Amino acid sequence: MSGAIDTGKIRLLSGDVISRIAAGEVVERPAAVVRELIDNSLDAGSTKITIEVKDGGMSLIRVVDDGEGMSQKDASMAFRHHATSKVVSDQDLLSVTTMGFRGEALPSIASVSKVRLITARREEPVGTQLLLAGGEIERVEDVAAPAGTQVEVKDLFYNTPARKKFLKTITTEFSRISQAVQQASLPRPGVQFHLRHNGQDVLHVPAVSSLRDRVSQVYHRRFADQCLEFQADGPACKLQGYTINPMYARSGRTPQDLFVNCRPVKNATVSHAVYGAYEASLAKGRHPLFVLFLEVDPARLDVNVHPTKREVRFLDQDLIHHSVRQAIRSALGRPASEASTVRLQSPHRVGQPDSPQRRYDQGESQGQVSGTLLKEKGEVYSWPRPASLEPSSGQRPTGLNSQPALIQEHPLPFEPVTRPEVIPLGQIGKTFLVAQVGTELQVVDQHTAHERVLFERLRGKWEGSAIASQPLLIPDPIDVPLHEAQVLMEHLSDLEKLGLVLEPFGASSFLLRAVPASLGHIDHEAFIQDLVEDLAQWNSLSSLEARIRPILATLACHGAVRAGRGMDLPEIKHLIEDWVKEGLPMTCPHGRRVALRLPAEELAKIFGRA
Ligand code: ADP
Ligand code: MG
Repeated sequence: MSGAIDTGKIRLLSGDVISRIAAGEVVERPAAVVRELIDNSLDAGSTKITIEVKDGGMSLIRVVDDGEGMSQKDASMAFRHHATSKVVSDQDLLSVTTMGFRGEALPSIASVSKVRLITARREEPVGTQLLLAGGEIERVEDVAAPAGTQVEVKDLFYNTPARKKFLKTITTEFSRISQAVQQASLPRPGVQFHLRHNGQDVLHVPAVSSLRDRVSQVYHRRFADQCLEFQADGPACKLQGYTINPMYARSGRTPQDLFVNCRPVKNATVSHAVYGAYEASLAKGRHPLFVLFLEVDPARLDVNVHPTKREVRFLDQDLIHHSVRQAIRSALGRPASEASTVRLQSPHRVGQPDSPQRRYDQGESQGQVSGTLLKEKGEVYSWPRPASLEPSSGQRPTGLNSQPALIQEHPLPFEPVTRPEVIPLGQIGKTFLVAQVGTELQVVDQHTAHERVLFERLRGKWEGSAIASQPLLIPDPIDVPLHEAQVLMEHLSDLEKLGLVLEPFGASSFLLRAVPASLGHIDHEAFIQDLVEDLAQWNSLSSLEARIRPILATLACHGAVRAGRGMDLPEIKHLIEDWVKEGLPMTCPHGRRVALRLPAEELAKIFGRA
């Protein structure tokens, strides 16, 4: 190489520093290679990073950046163990401000693959190409190259077949890569990311000016709109984030992203603080979704605790716990000073199973009467309690945790031999139907009752393998985040058997072409979101029945009449008759109560006539 003397800036770490570095496997799978290469590009001040991958990263990973590049001397140094430009002394380890600090990534990657590096510094006339196999440099030469660095990793684990065996399918490995790219992109709105797989554009994230815009790019505007935004300056950290409005919380846990000084990490203290802030705002089995960015003084943070740098330790753990909890509490509109033991009841959650008994005559609206009525002389009459007593707002309740509650019956001694007559009386709060059914007074939740009716019908049809599909006149385009698209892609043919026809349309969009016949109006986007959560559990469930059931329940939930819709007497009669036809099941497919039933004899007892 011509020009000035190249003194280089990469140095070997001293044995002393090396001994303080958390050692361990750096590249256990393709996504880890991608993470490390992106980290290097970010540390080099890049504004555009392109990641090109073949076969889930197993045959090729190429990361191209427009960062500061390396001199020829540095390029050769970079592949030696413990060679880094980022840390010199063990003091530096105490306040790391870069993503990398161990000088381990490039040599580890090179030792299990064939690497080609092309790099050029802006101020130098020529660049450098380096070829390596199994960690050994085979060739170094001058090349013409744009400013920046390109690292090409071929045939990963070609020389370690045992490691190769642990790789999963191409789809799974690629899905991890795309998650890694998304994670890297989130805290850096000013950097453009571009991901290609097998020659196809999969993710294109142009630079934007705010974190909010970046969150919308990665998790879609809909998610950002469902979040509450907050910003706070705590004694030990600055924080900014987006956290789900409890109304939209779901059974899934994606995203639950934490970035500390732009580093994606897991941290139990922060998770605990977030869950603590939500407390009783969330129905059972629902989880907070959040994207949280923490800025901490690097000297008060230990990043050197985990071999793949996915964890950190806070020196001011308690202060940070407190700040996160307070910030989220106030974002949720809850008094920040409240002690964690105080249980607040959320506005859309009444009559918790463990709440104290309430008297229906103490100013409670009828919809809020919980599971007990007080008789004269203080005797308690209680009706069967379903697994959960949340009123239906048309929102799907829970996923995983509610599964045991699926179709859990609480039978009343009511065995209709001939079907009882249904005399519709009216509707309360556009949510509960009131009717005389046979000799009983019944208050029926319109959503859960309809949901159960639809569920039973779908199940019957599915068992007879005859779920008819109804094509949409105009196919509905649906955009989903990339990781969800991958889940859907895996199950397109399973869904088709359920009458749902989705056609891939770009990397993270689909056209919804048909839905099962005989469902009511469905909000397709919301439905697909819930569906993805069901599908994400698919592989953990062993029987087909167990896999299909939550999906039928989700279909039924989305197809059923919502709370808040006025119904006239003939409609009420019709719905209750349908429900009676199904044998008056007392819970919806998610385990929520359908009806309150007071037989004439009970009425007589309550009024002292028996
Ligand atoms: P670390 O990132 O911990 O320093 P690596 O093995 O990942 O260790 O990289 C070694 C060195 O190579 C870095 O310290 C940096 O000086 C240089 N380097 C690696 N990747 C790039 C890149 N994309 N652009 C510029 N320099 C790079
Ligand atoms: Mg590195």
